[in-house]
Amino acid sequence: METRKTDALGRIVIPKDLRIKYDIMSEGSDIDIIPTEEGILLKKHCDTCAICGSSNDLVNYAGKYYCRTCIKNLNAEAKMKWGDTEAYKDYQEKAENLSEEDKQLLSGELMNIFGEFGEIKRTDPASESAQELVLMLQNYITDHFYKCTDDILRGLGQMYVNDMRFKKSIDDTCGEGTAEFVSKAIAAKK
Ligand SMILES: [Zn+2]
Repeated sequence: METRKTDALGRIVIPKDLRIKYDIMSEGSDIDIIPTEEGILLKKHCDTCAICGSSNDLVNYAGKYYCRTCIKNLNAEAKMKWGDTEAYKDYQEKAENLSEEDKQLLSGELMNIFGEFGEIKRTDPASESAQELVLMLQNYITDHFYKCTDDILRGLGQMYVNDMRFKKSIDDTCGEGTAEFVSKAIAAKK
């Protein structure tokens, strides 16, 4: 153990041998600062899958990371649930022509719509502005993924809160309670 003094701004120098040991030698390394019972834990930042927490084989979607195993599982589940529907076939066709970058761009834009829901999540889900966002979401999905009928939209609205992976992903990015608000706003659609 070694004791070091903080400077006027609260900074301390992490001893070089520890920086070598924990692979944080390069300038600008991201360090997670984690409060614990014992004191402050400093940890080299490591991107992890938003679903399972793994740090292997990650793909960035809309500012979050997902591992390829989780993406594969989600795709397989979607195929099982909706494989026979027109919407799914429609989506498969569109997805075939999209590059990884296109997909990232689309999911980023979709997450931006959720972000707008997040901004107003403390208001009435039946309000005009919330309902405008519901229409925006529905149209966005129809334009870029598959024909999003009112039925499908209602199904999505339930999935956003019942499927913890979706709920967590939306809430982590757009603020706690966003998924529930989106779901309520969709349920309030006339
Ligand atoms: Zn994962």
